[in-house]
Amino acid sequence: MLILGIETSCDETGVALFDTNEGLLAHGLFSQIDMHADYGGVVPELASRDHVRKLLPLCDQVLVDAGRARSDIEGIAYTAGPGLIGALMVGGSVAHALGFALGVPVLGVHHMEGHLLAPMLEENPPAFPFVALLVSGGHTQLVRVDGIGEYELLGESVDDAAGEAFDKTAKMLGLDYPGGPRVAALAEKGTPGRYRFPRPMTDRPGLDFSFSGLKTYTLNTVNAAKDAGGLDEQARADIALAFESAVVDTLTIKCRRALEATGCKRLVIAGGVSANRRLRAGLEAMASKLSAGVFYARPEFCTDNGAMIAYAGAQRLLAGQRDGERIVAVPRWPMNTLPSLAEPRMN
Ligand code: ATP
Ligand code: MG
Ligand code: FE
Repeated sequence: MLILGIETSCDETGVALFDTNEGLLAHGLFSQIDMHADYGGVVPELASRDHVRKLLPLCDQVLVDAGRARSDIEGIAYTAGPGLIGALMVGGSVAHALGFALGVPVLGVHHMEGHLLAPMLEENPPAFPFVALLVSGGHTQLVRVDGIGEYELLGESVDDAAGEAFDKTAKMLGLDYPGGPRVAALAEKGTPGRYRFPRPMTDRPGLDFSFSGLKTYTLNTVNAAKDAGGLDEQARADIALAFESAVVDTLTIKCRRALEATGCKRLVIAGGVSANRRLRAGLEAMASKLSAGVFYARPEFCTDNGAMIAYAGAQRLLAGQRDGERIVAVPRWPMNTLPSLAEPRMN
């Protein structure tokens, strides 16, 4: 079954073609980062309009890259949420219009399920069950995964997401959005041990996270260095390293607890922050002590992309799930309300 996947939940237009027999055929991405840079954040109306401009040309480009025609498409998956309502509506409208014109089934997919399943596109995909750490711009969650749609939330951030903390730290250090990769690059030049930041919520039991206090701690450290006239390049790098180490340690401690509590031997990490090299190394070192394996997607499939939506949608479309005639767009949507593959309908 040849599935067209469409991602438009935020500031990235992503499209991919996934064949349930042949795998991923082609994918493309338009990032709006430069467009929003002047505003210091994503402007929802501008995001929607840019998706309108970019989506159909990108669909055509991906079809050309895959050597397929529109008429070859046998199913369409789009991101139905969570995300910006206007941006979601663009993807949903195009998906439903194309599906109606081609007479093929259409399905709205959960964005975080897309992230969660992205490592399945790699060569050595994880088997169920596994523990998943979802770490992105809007989410930090630990989930026990027994199958597609079989999700048990083990813990989550009570305030900021890890990616959001990276982005805010970047801003404090004078770096551009998205901050994660820039903070990580700056941290490479940092002096280990010059600053030590707290590991929030690791001294008590449980699998929840909190990154807002760490953000304040970072701000206070930046301000203290500024007041002392010492916020030079080296101090910025030292702060970046101290922040990154605190996030990595905190996530690693909670992942170890989740693996121990569930007895799972597989840890999947997904979402933009899972591209972080120090995080991958920290988790791999921890997991090897538990004889567990760590699974993640290639960096371009950690952040938003169409391939993860095509893959997640393909599994559900293959199982017979599809939308009714209504476009589905859900700005807030808990992932543990999703049906399993055995249930007949999704939306
Ligand atoms: P959500 O998926 O929760 O709706 P989102 O789609 O905005 O949020 P993603 O696209 O998955 O989030 O990831 C973007 C986030 O990942 C940003 O916060 C970015 O700073 C962070 N990120 C990307 N690469 C890295 C990296 N190498 N290290 C740390 N953080 C990173
Ligand atoms: Mg994005
Ligand atoms: Fe995302």
